Amino acid sequence: MAYSKMVKPASAGLVPLTVLRTERLAPHWIRVTFGGGEIERFTPMGYDQWFRLFLPVGGDAGLGRVPAKANSTLGYLKFLRIPDGERPVMRNYSVRAFRPATAAAGAELDVDFVLHGSAAEGTAGPASRWAETCSPGEPVLVIDEGLTFNPARGTDRVVLVGDETALPAIASICASLPAHATGSVLLEAPTAEDALDFPHPAGIAVHRIVRTAAHRPGSRVLAALRDLSLPDAPFHAYAAGEQALASGARKLLVGERGVDKEQVSFCGYWRIGSASPASRAAREAAAVPLN
Ligand SMILES: Cc1cc2nc3c(=O)[nH]c(=O)nc-3n(C[C@H](O)[C@H](O)[C@H](O)COP(=O)(O)OP(=O)(O)OC[C@H]3O[C@@H](n4cnc5c(N)ncnc54)[C@H](O)[C@@H]3O)c2cc1C
Repeated sequence: MAYSKMVKPASAGLVPLTVLRTERLAPHWIRVTFGGGEIERFTPMGYDQWFRLFLPVGGDAGLGRVPAKANSTLGYLKFLRIPDGERPVMRNYSVRAFRPATAAAGAELDVDFVLHGSAAEGTAGPASRWAETCSPGEPVLVIDEGLTFNPARGTDRVVLVGDETALPAIASICASLPAHATGSVLLEAPTAEDALDFPHPAGIAVHRIVRTAAHRPGSRVLAALRDLSLPDAPFHAYAAGEQALASGARKLLVGERGVDKEQVSFCGYWRIGSASPASRAAREAAAVPLN
């Protein structure tokens, strides 16, 4: 996963949560709402806060063996020692919304999962399949990872670019910005119904771009970025989604449009033809012998 300078998480360590409910939002979207467990130990930061999610695809016992720092190189090595078949699946997801506890109800964390492939036909990735088939009461673990969106203090002009996997992050950034913020969002989705609506400051123009099966994911939004009239500096740009979209957007903005690289946050969220995670910890761990 290629990414720019990050904002550290406010809380550390494994946080156990359980599935409270699921909701189908669109053909390629399912929202899973988590709560219970130790949710009070999760500190919401807004913007594009993301986390490692451990899914009990080999049974609940595997979750009990996940090391506290499974997101570090050494921790990931320990994680890999959990036997195949029992080892949970680790994937990266964004906080779509967090609702603090009230007198009447506990805190809740919404995570919006893109459904890709088909769970029924066995062509979906494990996280996509899990989200489509999980039930209330199922346990998971999360480790907070903080933010990638990292503008200079006080920046209220933005250009936010992504494919559908970045929609939760971009929607949450829009919810976190001040009401007077201005700028543009360019969002690509596989169908018009999947280009979900979300609240945003009135001065931010949201452009939804629907690709067809003939388009490589991310290619249409990159073409739209090339033609976008950029706001006056200073502004902050954010690009996330398929790896070639995230790195291509940064290259286009910095190399062709003359934007200062400190004003661009970017993150490759997934890679065509390759299972996640491609994190530094996973790559480093892969280079170390296992015994
Ligand atoms: C910081 C960060 C935040 C993220 N936030 C979210 C989020 O909020 N919601 C969300 O849905 N995703 C999010 N992602 C992306 C998500 O982690 C990946 O899509 C992940 O690969 C899904 O895991 P999987 O087990 O379903 O598929 P994997 O096992 O990782 O991949 C299996 C196959 O499916 C393909 N694939 C993976 N994802 C997609 C996709 N979206 N569309 C089409 N093909 C795909 C792969 O290329 C591979 O060939 C985020 C990623 C990062 C790094």
